[in-house]
Parts: sequence; C-alpha cells; structure tokens
Amino acid sequence: MAFSENPLLERISYIIFGNDGEGQEAPSIDATLEVMDRHLENFETLVKPVPESKPRTSFDSGLPKEEVTLGSMTLKQRLKMLPQAAPLFINMLRAAQGYDGKFNPRKTHATPEFIAELEARAYRAGVKDIKYVKVPRNAIFKGKGIPHEYAIVFTVEMDKEPLDTSPSFESQFEVMKGYKRMAVIGNKLARFMKKSGFAAYPGMALGGVTDYAHLAELAGLGAIGYHGLLITPGEGSRLRINTIYTNIENLPLHEENEHLWVRDFCAMCKKCIRICPADAIFAEPQPRGDGGMQCIDHAACRDYFSRNYGCAVCLAICPFSQVGYEAVKKRFKGNPKAPQFVIPVESISVTRH
Ligand code: SF4
Ligand code: SF4
Repeated sequence: MAFSENPLLERISYIIFGNDGEGQEAPSIDATLEVMDRHLENFETLVKPVPESKPRTSFDSGLPKEEVTLGSMTLKQRLKMLPQAAPLFINMLRAAQGYDGKFNPRKTHATPEFIAELEARAYRAGVKDIKYVKVPRNAIFKGKGIPHEYAIVFTVEMDKEPLDTSPSFESQFEVMKGYKRMAVIGNKLARFMKKSGFAAYPGMALGGVTDYAHLAELAGLGAIGYHGLLITPGEGSRLRINTIYTNIENLPLHEENEHLWVRDFCAMCKKCIRICPADAIFAEPQPRGDGGMQCIDHAACRDYFSRNYGCAVCLAICPFSQVGYEAVKKRFKGNPKAPQFVIPVESISVTRH
C-alpha cells in the first residue's frame, strides 16, 4: 500500500524520518485529514452546513520542507515526539473508522445518572471541563457534515511552563500532548456511550469538520478572545478542544454564556495583537459571511506557525493564561464602550447527500 493511501503510516513516517517513507516532501496535513473525512460518506444522511459556512482552515503552508520545523526536527526531538504523535494519529484513524455508518443506537434519551457517569469518566480520563451543544449549521465547515446534531464538547489543559517558551520545541511538544490526550479521551468516552446504546462519533483531535471554538462558546465553556481562541475559567487559553457527535436529544444544554465579558476585556487589552510575531491578529474581530467573527489572518499565522514550532505565543501570553480567569475578572472594572459581538445560532436541518 502506498504511504499516501495510509494517513497513519504517512504521518508517523514524517515524524520519524522527516518524510513520508518514500523520500518525498512533507505530506500534506490537509490531504491526511481529507482521507479521514471520507468516512463520512458511509452515512446515508448527514447534518450539513449552511451555504455561507466557512471552509476548514488549511494547515498546509506550501513552504519548502526544510523551512517547516516539524519536518526538520533533530533525531532526539523526533524520538521524543513519537510517543505523542503515534497514539494521536492511531486514535484519529480509529475515530475515523468508527464512522462506518453501521451502528444502530438503541436510545436517544439519557438519564441524569448516565450523564453523571459520563462526566465522571471524562474527568478521570483527564478532561478539564465538559458541556453540551446543539450544533448550529454555520459551525459545520463547508463541504463537510456530521452524523448527528448534538455534540459533547470537552477541553484538556496544556501546562503553562512549556507554553511560556513558545515558539519552541517544548511548546510544540506540549501542544502535541494535548492533541493526543483529546484523541484518546474522545475514543474512550465514545466507546462507553456506544456500549450504553447511544450513537457517539468523536471529532478529529486535529482538524475536524466543525469549528470547535465556536461550539465550545455556545456550550458555555468560555468565550472566544481577540486571538480567536477559547478563553475559559480554568486555564485561560491553555487548552485544546474536542467533540463527540451524538444522538442524545436531552443533553443538559447551557442556556446562558456568562463569559462574554471576556471580549470587553480584550477590547482594552490587545496584548496578543501587539505581540503576535506575524502581525496576524486583527485589531478588532471582523464580521464574517457565516455570522461568525474572523479574528486572525490565517495565511499570515500559518507561515510563521509552520516555521516556528507551531507558534502558541498568543495563547501563552494572554493574561487569562498567565494569571487566570478569576484574577483578571476580579481586577476588571468593565468596559461599556467595548464593541460586543455574539455569534448567532443557525437552525438545524438534516439533508441527504
Ligand atoms: S491577549 Fe488580551 S486581547 Fe488577546 S485574547 Fe488575551 S485578553 Fe484578549
Ligand atoms: S499562533 Fe503565533 S503567529 Fe499565529 S496568531 Fe498566534 S501569535 Fe500570531
């Protein structure tokens, strides 16, 4: 089998050897994710995006391989990264293969006891916070789809010390650890849900077919800051997000989001805008055609990100990541002149392919 047909071999080979095992250039992350997305074709029906939904942001920079830090790691760095990267891609592939369109759920309604058990398992597995959302169609990326209209959204925390060194190998290693944990936990929780009779499809830890930050804000986990990332009470922006799409119709959905004041603070702070080494963060989020807000120039961010260990400077220097949400909130006296925005919710409908 050609490596290009096996996203798992391709990515692992890239981490070990700096190529795809066939002596070619760095494999395209976007192509790898597309291979995983093809499993969605196993479903007769999918919840589809609205016509104005945005496409998934491209990961590929198109830069020469020697300029991309992930492809030019030392042998020591590769060997350190492998125990994180291999389980990440193995678990992503496992999650994708679960989208086989064959599972017949026995139940659509969960008892409070089931939700309590699910959350207990999530926290034991290392989840920082978990909430629930009815996925709006404008959060589904253009050309994609999801098997069910409800989602569990969960976060895992990344440690402050390595992120404070960003951009660096240590910081990229911490980010890779976060991705791996999300992939492993997603599969673990989905297995438990399926055994209990519910449909459960973990989102891809990397990429995915919905806007995870958007879903997390709607679920009430936090609010999106001017750097375009989620800010939460626990860990500021030092987190990664994943989802599990499910048919559970009575999830305990959050009615109000008490974290939107965060953007009033952002309108005064703007530290990430000043510090971003690529000048990629807009002075103010721009309205987007799908009803959401565009916070960063992805092309500008991606090139710097690819050349500099998956830059995490904006999330690391954010005051919410540094001193914590509660400390910022305590000192913040409000900013009534701040331009506020709320991401609207689109209605759901299920469409045939
Ligand atoms: S650094 Fe400041 S402006 Fe940027 S996201 Fe954090 S709080 Fe908001
Ligand atoms: S990841 Fe780095 S380059 Fe991209 S927006 Fe954040 S600080 Fe800027």
